[in-house]
Amino acid sequence: MNAETRIVIVGGGYTGMLAALRLARRTRRGEIRIVLINPSDRFTERLRLHQVAAGRELARYRIPDLLTGTGIEFVRARVVSLEARARQIRLDTGRTLRYDRLIYAVGATADTARIPGAAEHAWTLDDPRVVHRFAARLAECRTVAVLGAGPTGIEAATEIAANNPNTRVTLIGITEPGAMMGERARAYLRRALDRLGVTVVVDPVTEVRPDGIQLASGTTIPADLTLWTAGVRNAPLAASAGIATDPRGAILVDATLKSVSHPEIRAIGDAAAVTMPWGPLHGTCQSGMPTAAYAADTTARELRGKPVRPFHFGYIHQPVSLGRRDAVIQFTHPDDTPLRAHLTGRLAVVYKAAVSASPVPVFRLAKFLATPVTLPRGGCAQTVLERATIEQ
Ligand SMILES: Cc1cc2nc3c(=O)[nH]c(=O)nc-3n(C[C@H](O)[C@H](O)[C@H](O)COP(=O)(O)OP(=O)(O)OC[C@H]3O[C@@H](n4cnc5c(N)ncnc54)[C@H](O)[C@@H]3O)c2cc1C
Repeated sequence: MNAETRIVIVGGGYTGMLAALRLARRTRRGEIRIVLINPSDRFTERLRLHQVAAGRELARYRIPDLLTGTGIEFVRARVVSLEARARQIRLDTGRTLRYDRLIYAVGATADTARIPGAAEHAWTLDDPRVVHRFAARLAECRTVAVLGAGPTGIEAATEIAANNPNTRVTLIGITEPGAMMGERARAYLRRALDRLGVTVVVDPVTEVRPDGIQLASGTTIPADLTLWTAGVRNAPLAASAGIATDPRGAILVDATLKSVSHPEIRAIGDAAAVTMPWGPLHGTCQSGMPTAAYAADTTARELRGKPVRPFHFGYIHQPVSLGRRDAVIQFTHPDDTPLRAHLTGRLAVVYKAAVSASPVPVFRLAKFLATPVTLPRGGCAQTVLERATIEQ
């Protein structure tokens, strides 16, 4: 190992935080310097932002507090450019930082550029400050359209409907809600949406207007507020640095999560284009947290000159909350196709709460434990560990 190897982690979300803490635990100070960069000093629980949209408050966690005692240097800044050949990054503070290795964990944000009017008139679940403003407006509105009938759209629509019984909520998608689930779980989901008064529309959106949604069929859905959950994109940071990416801008990685064009860079979480033998991973904590744990452990092994094994992951479930009091869990094959088994009602609520619990206890454990631990599986508070192939 060099006298001091500098590892820069860009992004302090779910995966960047876990990667930083695990790497610090598995390496020695003095030999390695870890720098974590994030635009805010607050850790954002992204997967709870639909709850904030519906008017709930979240716990506040400061990243510097979560890093106390680890030796990780926290830099509050946004990376504005990456100079891959020179192995350095530029920050919006004007500072330039050199790296020996980089872990790219910048996540993904709403792709509102896809549909005319969405960037101007649709709200997104990216920035907690914007989501708080959405929640404040919601109190004055009578009609809300949620675009996108995937898990995030379903969770947002049901949370808003359950918390705001006088608001008319329309969930609009190009497929039925729960299309990825088995028949029985999908039927349960549909009944829950009906019970909460959520109107379901299956029709492509052609335009988002200030006061409603134009659909391909010619119908217009009135909406005082529109919430976008219909797809994400990655920042152009990597692509504009000449790093090989997929069409969305996620870094293409090899079997050890290294960039196929720049092996000193590892990409994890929503910012990585990871392909398993059965197909590509999609952006969830369920798959993202194992990529973070794997990247940290494998980087530490490489620095000690030890052999590494490829990353391996398989899905186990699709957990979807339906407001605070209901949920549906579809268990899956590793390739995310549905098994027969599913959970509904109170049991599903308890299960969902366990797998979507705050990752902060996992971060705290990662500070002290060098070996994998078993936690409730399948969400952000989870896996970390047993689903990824992690070697000691
Ligand atoms: C409402 C909602 C509900 C969800 N529910 C679930 C669920 O139930 N289960 C599940 O598995 N997944 C869920 N997801 C998906 C999950 O939240 C993401 O997969 C997860 O957050 C990805 O982690 P990440 O670390 O890759 O990105 P993030 O957690 O988004 O973190 C990225 C970090 O990088 C920072 N960053 C961005 N650009 C820069 C830059 N240029 N310089 C420095 N830092 C930068 C960001 O500020 C952020 O802190 C949900 C998502 C949403 C929006």
